[in-house]
Amino acid sequence: MSKKLLLKDAHIEGIRYFETYRKQGGYTAAEKALKMTPDEILEEVKVSGLRGRGGAGFPTGMKWSFLAKPEGVPRHLVVNADESEPGTFKDRYLMEFLPHLLIEGMLISSYCLGSNTSYIYIRGEYSWIPDILEEAIEEAKAAGFLGKNILGTGFDLEIYVQRGGGAYICGEETALLESLEGKRGNPRLKPPFPAVKGLWERPTVVNNVESIAAVVPIIDITGAEYAKIGVGRSTGTKLISACGNINKPGVYEIDMTITVEEFIYSDEYCGGIKDGKKLKACIPGGSSVPIVPANLLLRTVNGEPRYMNYESLADGGFATGTMMGSGGFIVLDEDQCIVEHTMTLARFYNHESCGQCTPCREGTGWMYKILKKIENGQGKMEDIDLLWDIQRKIEGNTICPLGDAAAWPVAAAIRHFRDEFEWHVKNPELCLTQNYGLANY
Ligand code: SF4
Repeated sequence: MSKKLLLKDAHIEGIRYFETYRKQGGYTAAEKALKMTPDEILEEVKVSGLRGRGGAGFPTGMKWSFLAKPEGVPRHLVVNADESEPGTFKDRYLMEFLPHLLIEGMLISSYCLGSNTSYIYIRGEYSWIPDILEEAIEEAKAAGFLGKNILGTGFDLEIYVQRGGGAYICGEETALLESLEGKRGNPRLKPPFPAVKGLWERPTVVNNVESIAAVVPIIDITGAEYAKIGVGRSTGTKLISACGNINKPGVYEIDMTITVEEFIYSDEYCGGIKDGKKLKACIPGGSSVPIVPANLLLRTVNGEPRYMNYESLADGGFATGTMMGSGGFIVLDEDQCIVEHTMTLARFYNHESCGQCTPCREGTGWMYKILKKIENGQGKMEDIDLLWDIQRKIEGNTICPLGDAAAWPVAAAIRHFRDEFEWHVKNPELCLTQNYGLANY
């Protein structure tokens, strides 16, 4: 059984409220942290090996150490709660059921970074959660854990919740900052990076909800103890939101030493494939990471078991591996059609492209149109190669990672399931009446 750090109290009734959270030991990590120096906290986070839980997996301590500290210029912590990646809903769970864990993590992190005004930028569709967060902020303030002179330390902190307008692109940190400043959420060219010029051109750290919540157990048990959980550079625990054709969709906390097979089939986690069907493929890190067929999902090309961690999932590179990403684990059974699935994702990325750069603006729409043609039985064999060519020209040629995120699912689908694309071209009449999976398995 995986060790629980973040969700250990999630089952306790009333844990959403300050009184219950406090009774369970809440805010003791903050009390401990406020007696430390900011440099000591930073060292604990570095030693813990915590990697950003939003998708990129960049070491959090290193990110914090890049924060510029010019004299007299305010700094900010911004929590990225714009969780919009298809298949990803673990931050929603944290904010909905454990809002004080996030607030406590923000208090520790803000103190470490020297931010007296910190923000939570939350996706517009999570319409009911800002009220939960704002209630928790008020409770924390009433108890002296936010506001002026917190616990007599002289440290002040205000936290504001900002609702987004529902654009996926605002999950990209610079687009988020633009939106937070009241502008259209277009990603910025980097450099300068937010650590130097972020919110209102001030040094800013943008971190995912889960990353900031993880700071609480790091301070609680120490960075060194946190680093002992997991394996290699995949330290600590990770929240996985599991969905698709499984018996037990939900949010699970894993310690990154379990195998993918165990995660899918064990009753502790997904409970196996629904209706006893066969596993066809999986997207383990949210819709932006490459889809992997069952044989490469359960084992690497060397025959080693594939584990639920950053290194093992990526083993073999994009040709045979994938990425941990945001931890949005989407499972597809034997009945699913990869062309239809890829088309749905292409439509999503085309819709969410901000339109600033040509390869993304034009390429995502072009890929969607071709995929729609193939799915509807109107495709030609050369369309598959054209599709491959378009995704190659998008990847690496855009301002922000949305371009790559749109290209990778198409590339992986063609690489691993070219036969399905060809079946659609060769069987136009069947495409309209049957799903590839249902017709072929
Ligand atoms: Fe906008 Fe797409 Fe360019 Fe990102 S890659 S800046 S979403 S057009």
